[in-house]
Amino acid sequence: MSEATFGRGRLLLVQGDITRVTADAIVNAANSALAGGGGVDGAIHRAGGPTIARECAAIGHCETGSAVITSAGNLPARYVIHAVAPRYRGRPEDARLLAGAYAASMRLAEEHGLKSIAFPSLGTGAYGYPLDEAAPIALGTVAEHLRTSRCIEKVTFVLFSPADLAAYERALTKLAT
Ligand code: ADP
Repeated sequence: MSEATFGRGRLLLVQGDITRVTADAIVNAANSALAGGGGVDGAIHRAGGPTIARECAAIGHCETGSAVITSAGNLPARYVIHAVAPRYRGRPEDARLLAGAYAASMRLAEEHGLKSIAFPSLGTGAYGYPLDEAAPIALGTVAEHLRTSRCIEKVTFVLFSPADLAAYERALTKLAT
Protein backbone atom coordinates (compact mmCIF):
# COMPACT_ATOMS: atom_id res chain seq x y z
CA MET A 1 0.00 0.00 0.00
CA SER A 2 1.41 3.42 -0.91
CA GLU A 3 -1.40 5.77 0.13
CA ALA A 4 -3.84 5.99 3.04
CA THR A 5 -6.10 8.56 4.67
CA PHE A 6 -6.09 9.38 8.40
CA GLY A 7 -8.70 11.91 9.51
CA ARG A 8 -8.76 14.53 6.78
CA GLY A 9 -5.10 14.01 5.89
CA ARG A 10 -3.49 11.90 3.20
CA LEU A 11 -0.28 9.93 3.76
CA LEU A 12 1.68 9.01 0.64
CA LEU A 13 4.80 6.92 0.04
CA VAL A 14 7.01 7.70 -2.96
CA GLN A 15 10.55 6.89 -4.03
CA GLY A 16 12.78 9.87 -4.77
CA ASP A 17 15.09 12.67 -3.72
CA ILE A 18 13.58 14.88 -1.01
CA THR A 19 15.57 17.95 -2.14
CA ARG A 20 13.39 18.06 -5.27
CA VAL A 21 10.07 17.87 -3.45
CA THR A 22 7.70 20.84 -3.44
CA ALA A 23 6.00 20.94 -0.03
CA ASP A 24 5.48 23.57 2.66
CA ALA A 25 8.25 21.83 4.61
CA ILE A 26 10.73 19.05 4.03
CA VAL A 27 12.28 17.30 7.01
CA ASN A 28 16.03 16.84 7.39
CA ALA A 29 17.70 13.97 9.29
CA ALA A 30 19.93 16.30 11.33
CA ASN A 31 22.41 15.71 14.16
CA SER A 32 22.01 17.39 17.54
CA ALA A 33 24.76 19.94 16.79
CA LEU A 34 22.82 20.95 13.64
CA ALA A 35 26.22 20.73 11.95
CA GLY A 36 26.77 19.34 8.49
CA GLY A 37 26.50 15.62 7.96
CA GLY A 38 26.33 13.23 5.03
CA GLY A 39 23.25 11.46 3.71
CA VAL A 40 20.09 13.47 3.36
CA ASP A 41 21.54 16.32 5.48
CA GLY A 42 24.44 16.79 3.04
CA ALA A 43 22.05 16.69 0.07
CA ILE A 44 19.71 19.30 1.63
CA HIS A 45 22.55 21.73 2.48
CA ARG A 46 24.17 21.31 -0.96
CA ALA A 47 20.91 21.94 -2.80
CA GLY A 48 19.57 24.61 -0.44
CA GLY A 49 22.66 26.78 -0.17
CA PRO A 50 24.39 28.44 2.82
CA THR A 51 21.42 30.26 4.41
CA ILE A 52 20.13 27.03 5.93
CA ALA A 53 23.46 26.31 7.66
CA ARG A 54 23.63 29.92 8.92
CA GLU A 55 20.18 29.60 10.49
CA CYS A 56 21.13 26.22 11.98
CA ALA A 57 24.29 27.75 13.51
CA ALA A 58 22.20 30.55 15.06
CA ILE A 59 19.87 27.98 16.66
CA GLY A 60 22.92 25.95 17.70
CA HIS A 61 21.51 22.71 19.11
CA CYS A 62 18.57 20.32 18.98
CA GLU A 63 17.88 17.53 21.46
CA THR A 64 17.67 13.97 20.15
CA GLY A 65 14.00 13.16 19.62
CA SER A 66 13.12 16.78 18.87
CA ALA A 67 13.16 19.19 15.89
CA VAL A 68 13.78 22.83 14.89
CA ILE A 69 12.69 24.82 11.83
CA THR A 70 14.57 27.07 9.38
CA SER A 71 13.87 28.59 5.99
CA ALA A 72 14.66 26.46 2.94
CA GLY A 73 17.15 28.59 0.97
CA ASN A 74 17.10 27.66 -2.71
CA LEU A 75 14.98 24.55 -2.25
CA PRO A 76 11.46 24.35 -3.70
CA ALA A 77 10.08 23.86 -0.15
CA ARG A 78 9.28 26.86 2.12
CA TYR A 79 10.81 25.49 5.31
CA VAL A 80 13.25 22.81 6.42
CA ILE A 81 12.43 21.05 9.68
CA HIS A 82 15.61 19.57 11.17
CA ALA A 83 14.70 16.49 13.21
CA VAL A 84 17.18 14.49 15.28
CA ALA A 85 16.72 10.72 15.37
CA PRO A 86 18.60 8.57 17.92
CA ARG A 87 21.74 6.62 17.05
CA TYR A 88 20.35 3.09 17.18
CA ARG A 89 21.69 1.02 20.08
CA GLY A 90 18.82 -1.42 20.62
CA ARG A 91 17.67 0.35 23.80
CA PRO A 92 13.97 0.70 24.74
CA GLU A 93 14.26 4.50 24.49
CA ASP A 94 15.30 4.34 20.82
CA ALA A 95 11.67 3.92 19.73
CA ARG A 96 10.48 6.76 21.97
CA LEU A 97 13.16 9.10 20.61
CA LEU A 98 12.48 8.16 16.97
CA ALA A 99 8.74 8.74 17.47
CA GLY A 100 9.63 12.02 19.21
CA ALA A 101 11.53 13.26 16.15
CA TYR A 102 8.48 12.65 13.95
CA ALA A 103 6.02 14.06 16.49
CA ALA A 104 8.08 17.23 17.01
CA SER A 105 8.22 17.77 13.24
CA MET A 106 4.45 17.40 12.94
CA ARG A 107 3.93 19.84 15.85
CA LEU A 108 6.21 22.44 14.20
CA ALA A 109 4.31 22.06 10.91
CA GLU A 110 1.03 22.51 12.78
CA GLU A 111 2.31 25.58 14.68
CA HIS A 112 3.36 27.19 11.38
CA GLY A 113 0.00 26.44 9.77
CA LEU A 114 1.56 24.23 7.08
CA LYS A 115 -0.54 22.07 4.79
CA SER A 116 2.08 19.71 3.40
CA ILE A 117 5.22 18.12 4.80
CA ALA A 118 7.66 15.57 3.37
CA PHE A 119 9.81 13.20 5.46
CA PRO A 120 12.83 11.06 4.63
CA SER A 121 13.31 7.85 6.60
CA LEU A 122 14.80 9.38 9.78
CA GLY A 123 17.51 7.39 11.54
CA THR A 124 17.81 4.50 9.10
CA GLY A 125 20.98 5.65 7.33
CA ALA A 126 24.15 6.53 9.24
CA TYR A 127 22.29 6.26 12.58
CA GLY A 128 21.61 2.57 11.95
CA TYR A 129 17.92 2.17 12.90
CA PRO A 130 16.71 -1.09 11.29
CA LEU A 131 14.30 -0.18 8.50
CA ASP A 132 11.60 -2.71 9.41
CA GLU A 133 11.56 -1.44 13.00
CA ALA A 134 11.67 2.24 12.04
CA ALA A 135 8.94 2.22 9.37
CA PRO A 136 5.99 1.31 11.68
CA ILE A 137 7.15 3.88 14.26
CA ALA A 138 7.43 6.59 11.59
CA LEU A 139 4.07 5.87 9.98
CA GLY A 140 2.22 5.22 13.25
CA THR A 141 3.41 8.50 14.80
CA VAL A 142 2.57 10.56 11.71
CA ALA A 143 -0.84 8.88 11.26
CA GLU A 144 -1.75 9.61 14.89
CA HIS A 145 -0.98 13.32 14.39
CA LEU A 146 -2.78 13.46 11.04
CA ARG A 147 -5.98 12.16 12.62
CA THR A 148 -6.27 15.26 14.82
CA SER A 149 -4.39 17.83 12.73
CA ARG A 150 -6.15 21.12 12.02
CA CYS A 151 -4.09 22.18 9.00
CA ILE A 152 -1.83 19.39 7.69
CA GLU A 153 -3.50 17.86 4.63
CA LYS A 154 -0.71 15.85 3.09
CA VAL A 155 2.32 13.98 4.43
CA THR A 156 4.68 12.40 1.91
CA PHE A 157 7.42 9.96 2.82
CA VAL A 158 10.18 10.31 0.22
CA LEU A 159 12.13 7.06 0.32
CA PHE A 160 15.52 7.01 -1.32
CA SER A 161 15.79 3.36 -2.42
CA PRO A 162 13.32 0.74 -3.68
CA ALA A 163 14.08 -1.36 -0.56
CA ASP A 164 13.20 1.58 1.71
CA LEU A 165 9.95 2.14 -0.20
CA ALA A 166 9.05 -1.57 0.05
CA ALA A 167 9.59 -1.59 3.85
CA TYR A 168 7.36 1.46 4.29
CA GLU A 169 4.70 -0.05 1.99
CA ARG A 170 4.63 -3.20 4.14
CA ALA A 171 4.30 -1.10 7.30
CA LEU A 172 1.52 1.07 5.84
CA THR A 173 -0.44 -2.02 4.78
CA LYS A 174 -0.29 -3.30 8.38
CA LEU A 175 -1.23 0.08 9.84
CA ALA A 176 -4.15 0.87 7.55
CA THR A 177 -5.83 -2.54 7.24
P1 ADP B 1 20.36 9.30 9.79
O1 ADP B 1 21.71 9.82 10.27
O2 ADP B 1 19.21 9.90 10.58
O3 ADP B 1 20.33 7.82 9.74
P2 ADP B 1 20.83 9.58 6.89
O4 ADP B 1 20.80 10.82 6.10
O5 ADP B 1 22.14 8.85 7.00
O6 ADP B 1 20.19 9.94 8.32
O7 ADP B 1 19.78 8.54 6.29
C1 ADP B 1 18.39 8.69 6.41
C2 ADP B 1 17.72 8.14 5.16
O8 ADP B 1 17.72 9.16 4.14
C3 ADP B 1 18.40 6.93 4.52
O9 ADP B 1 17.40 5.99 4.18
C4 ADP B 1 19.05 7.51 3.25
O10 ADP B 1 19.11 6.54 2.23
C5 ADP B 1 18.05 8.57 2.90
N1 ADP B 1 18.48 9.63 1.98
C6 ADP B 1 19.74 10.04 1.64
N2 ADP B 1 19.69 11.05 0.75
C7 ADP B 1 18.37 11.30 0.51
C8 ADP B 1 17.64 12.21 -0.33
N3 ADP B 1 18.26 13.09 -1.12
N4 ADP B 1 16.26 12.15 -0.32
C9 ADP B 1 15.61 11.27 0.47
N5 ADP B 1 16.24 10.39 1.28
C10 ADP B 1 17.60 10.39 1.30
